[in-house]
Amino acid sequence: MDVVAAVSEIRERVCLDRRRGRSVGFVPTMGALHAGHRSLIERARAECQTVVVSIFVNPTQFAPGEDFDRYPRTLDADLSLCRLAGADLVFTPKVADLYPDGARTTVHVADLGDGLCGRHRPGHFDGVATVVAKLFNAVPATRAYFGEKDYQQLCLIERMARDLAFDVAIIACPTVREADGLAMSSRNAYLSPDERRRAVSLSRVLFRARERILEGSRDSAALRDGMKQELIAGGVMEIDYLEFVRPKTLESLLRLEPPLRICGAVRISATRLIDNVAVESSF
Ligand code: AMP
Repeated sequence: MDVVAAVSEIRERVCLDRRRGRSVGFVPTMGALHAGHRSLIERARAECQTVVVSIFVNPTQFAPGEDFDRYPRTLDADLSLCRLAGADLVFTPKVADLYPDGARTTVHVADLGDGLCGRHRPGHFDGVATVVAKLFNAVPATRAYFGEKDYQQLCLIERMARDLAFDVAIIACPTVREADGLAMSSRNAYLSPDERRRAVSLSRVLFRARERILEGSRDSAALRDGMKQELIAGGVMEIDYLEFVRPKTLESLLRLEPPLRICGAVRISATRLIDNVAVESSF
């Protein structure tokens, strides 16, 4: 496994593979890798001849006052995980490589980034779309792997890749969870033991809501109220949102007709956690 920092070198190596007819799988990450990331890398390994992982904590997707400075950076452990999961190349650019002096170009995907997390993290999805476009240019892969854990991000990137004619298939991968249901996240490292106990409420509430919809609940307001009560009872007081949305378009639903996604974001002290579950049609 080789570690490459320069944009020109990673592009050259990936282009060489592509010219030789090899398929290239790409897994963009911000590091602090865990079993969720590992599942993406292993899927790429199973499906592609060359596997590239990028590790880059992207400053433009953090708003002022968010956790950019304290975001966990664990490069040595990350490289071991990449090696074990079967990566061939790890791309570790510096901020100045992806954001050259005087950079003035951003990518904005209309509408999809406005609701859900976008409402609570202004500018976040412009930062995400911009850096992923840069990464796709640096790593011209055949397939790029993204987690359903960040469902809004996944939908936005699918749309961006289509709209901007990136020649890459976007592969959605299921959310990997801890044994009690908490979605794995690099930010879980911030949680104290007491906060960790409370954090599981988010996934519990989403899965319970899913059961209720499958049993026939259709009233979003009533269901949301119940979910809020359950979160508060579980020690989660700060709720950014609980939303029922149409898959792909992320339109908010009042009447809960599957297929849909239940999405939630909460804050536990300074830690912001997100999660979502799919509710498929019953027929
Ligand atoms: P991040 O490093 O948090 O930017 O995540 C990099 C990629 O890993 C994104 O496509 C995430 O959606 C995905 N990812 C993060 N956590 C999980 C998880 N628990 N299960 C599956 N994929 C995940």
